Amino acid sequence: MAGMQVNSPRRMRSSFLPFARPSLGEEEIQEVVDTLRSGWLTTGPKTERFAAAFLEYVGGRFAVPVSSATAGLHAALLALGVGPGDEVVTTPMTFVATLNTIVHCGAVPVLVDIDAATLQMRVEAVEARLTPRTKAIVPVHYVGQPVDLDPLLALAASRGLAVLEDAAHAVGTEYRGRRIGSFPTTSVFSFHPNKNMTTGEGGMIVTEDEGVFERASLLKFHGMDREASKRFSKEGSPRYDVAIPGFKSNMMDIQAALGLHQLKRLDGFIAERTRQAARYDAAFADTAGLILPARVPYPARHAWHLYTPLVDVDRLTISRDRFMEELKRRNIGTGLHYTAAHEFSYYAGRFGWAPADYPEAHFVSERIVSLPLFPGLSDADQDDAIAAVGGVLEEFRR
Ligand SMILES: *Cc1c(COP(=O)(O)O)cnc(C)c1O
Repeated sequence: MAGMQVNSPRRMRSSFLPFARPSLGEEEIQEVVDTLRSGWLTTGPKTERFAAAFLEYVGGRFAVPVSSATAGLHAALLALGVGPGDEVVTTPMTFVATLNTIVHCGAVPVLVDIDAATLQMRVEAVEARLTPRTKAIVPVHYVGQPVDLDPLLALAASRGLAVLEDAAHAVGTEYRGRRIGSFPTTSVFSFHPNKNMTTGEGGMIVTEDEGVFERASLLKFHGMDREASKRFSKEGSPRYDVAIPGFKSNMMDIQAALGLHQLKRLDGFIAERTRQAARYDAAFADTAGLILPARVPYPARHAWHLYTPLVDVDRLTISRDRFMEELKRRNIGTGLHYTAAHEFSYYAGRFGWAPADYPEAHFVSERIVSLPLFPGLSDADQDDAIAAVGGVLEEFRR
């Protein structure tokens, strides 16, 4: 077992191992070159094909390709009717874009703590946070496992609330046998290079609601009712109307060119991430100083966006940040996903939130670390990471 190498003298890795790296093949490269040669770079036929293929993969009804998940969350919130004075219930354990976009709509984020073991929002605690001003609930499928959707959707339906799934980590995630993107909600996926599949930057809104689809489609491109590919084609008219002031958040064909091939490889990527996660679980099973990621207690397909143990700082003489520094000194890169959003100065200041207000998110925020996990990670690379983690824990254990 690789974990047993901990005590043996071992030469340090000579090159730096990043915690994530996109996996791009020759097909992606050729498709981008083809796009460059085609004379059509921005939103066009490839974006349309990618959106259709993505919808088929997740089992959704309508898709709006966008320039990032952040842009998608913003447009989706507005399309759902979230505006000034509204409250939106979400979790502090997320990337801050989830909260930022709520604030950009003039709305107020209302937080529900997580379960520190599974990292998912405590769905059973949502109801107590609802008020007459609540407009929507934004669950986050954290690190690739799904939130407990059935009780959440039942609660939302009984109160007439919209559900917007932040599915940035959840391309390929399944809840009780169904893909995220196929539920009667609106979901937003991310194709940032660190996510499970990439378009460089990019995102996708998937919705079952035709009205949300139409409004989000307008919002993502200036509010214009006709896209450039339609206006400038031989059949098109150059005229358009603007019914709402939209944004510039469209996906380019250059991005979609990557997505078309990444999507075909996605299940292979997830299988490889799953294999690597199992190798970490096995290597660290008896390692004091690490709390391993727990599985949700309902049927799910984990997309393994990240492998995020908690550094058990109570059993070590160092903080999580120092733990990450020590790994970096050993040429092992790590990530921090994420600092709990309620602890950032803007949010703490504006809403008066203290770290202890969301104790489980705070606990996780002080301890979580993302270890290297990506399709191109070799077993030898992973063994280096395992040995380095073991070495740091050995050196700084109480
Ligand atoms: C990455 C991420 C986003 C934003 O995605 P982008 O495509 O980078 O805008 C939103 N929410 C969560 C939970 C994320 O991890």
